Amino acid sequence: MALASALPNRPASHLFYQTRQRRPLVERAEGVWFWDSDGRRYLDGSSGAMVSNIGHSHPHVVEAMRRQIGKATFAYRLHFENEAAETLAAKLVGHLTGDLSRVFFVSGGSEAVESCLKLARQYAVATGQGSRYKVISRFPSYHGCTLGALAVTGYTALTAPFAPMMQEMPKIPAPTAYLDRDALTMEQRGLKYADLLEREILAQGPETVLAFIMEPVGGASTGALVAPDSYYGRVREICDRHGVLLIYDEVMSGAGRTGRFLGGDHWAARPDLVALSKGFAAGYSPLGAAVAPDRIVEPVLDAGGFLHGFTYAGNPLACAAGLAVLEVIENEGLVARAASRGDLLKSKLALLMERYPFIGDVRGKGLLLAFELVADRETMAPLEPSLNAHARLVERAFEQGLIVYSRRTRGGRAGDHILVCPPMVVSESEIDELMAMLTAALDAFA
Ligand code: PLP
Repeated sequence: MALASALPNRPASHLFYQTRQRRPLVERAEGVWFWDSDGRRYLDGSSGAMVSNIGHSHPHVVEAMRRQIGKATFAYRLHFENEAAETLAAKLVGHLTGDLSRVFFVSGGSEAVESCLKLARQYAVATGQGSRYKVISRFPSYHGCTLGALAVTGYTALTAPFAPMMQEMPKIPAPTAYLDRDALTMEQRGLKYADLLEREILAQGPETVLAFIMEPVGGASTGALVAPDSYYGRVREICDRHGVLLIYDEVMSGAGRTGRFLGGDHWAARPDLVALSKGFAAGYSPLGAAVAPDRIVEPVLDAGGFLHGFTYAGNPLACAAGLAVLEVIENEGLVARAASRGDLLKSKLALLMERYPFIGDVRGKGLLLAFELVADRETMAPLEPSLNAHARLVERAFEQGLIVYSRRTRGGRAGDHILVCPPMVVSESEIDELMAMLTAALDAFA
């Protein structure tokens, strides 16, 4: 199996990303599978970065994009509306609960988060609450790489060099209740973690706090962390009590991946603003959205308009892709499929704990699943960072032809975790293939 370092016959690249490491060239992709330029096949066990929710090369989306290319690929939003954007916004709202009814299109997750933050701030200014500007978030967390989204990101390794360029925002611990070894029940722990928000709001001065942002089902930074049920309602109560807006970052957990349309739909509490991307257009085009209720949008429009917008926002081709993706999700019942296939995959991942003592926890909802590698399952002590365990396991999996996603959240309490998040179209036999490859990788890793 070709590894990153073994890439003969390739010219020195003018491209660069995060490191000098280079990967195989992708040739094509279909369903849950990739093929590289050497003809090797890989099972996409992480939907890329939890993006390709409906699988690759879906004919319905390909055809819809082809049709849109034949009509118009770009029409600037200040000159024209376009049908794809209007239809997609209406269809998206049909999937949302609570009073979320207005859609602001962007091209990715960081842009979606930035848009929520700026809309929240303009709402505060427009409604006479100009002293509110602090956005509390959790540690660890990931909300994007642009400076605003990074300021609310709790991930020291990514944020530290940029700290002098950002307004520092307060952080509270993520609800890692599964790591606690106290006498409390899980539900009591949920309340305990939620109450940290109230403590922080009071410490900051409630009149300065604009919003609280969190991933309702955690993504890469926490490895699919789910808080105890009690957490969600208590957070909502606290936000209401202090006039703080609740923003759900559903960039990874949205668009059906957790077995509900939004990850937050698993609980009764409703957010004020939602950031969406990734599975929304499922990798067929860059697309995201900030979603808000009239009660937030109207005062901003009354005050002169939202002082924000990206050139490619509402692009007809991206919206045609997003619309076709949503149609596939509906027509093929993929939200329910994510729930049932997720249960199946999670039960198989849980069985791995019998065989591998270094797997300390299996968690997540639907097909947003992860397992954590530990030095000691009793204490949940993490593995030594120098072992680079998560990256090694990902490479062992890649050698087997399986793509999984991993992170070690440095500076946080969580340790090495591996996300296993195949597309929602994954079949039962493909889950078996995934598990066989993962087991071989774990054997090679052990
Ligand atoms: N928010 C969450 C929860 C994410 O997982 C990500 C990306 O991984 C982002 C925001 C940023 O999205 P993007 O990389 O599309 O800018």
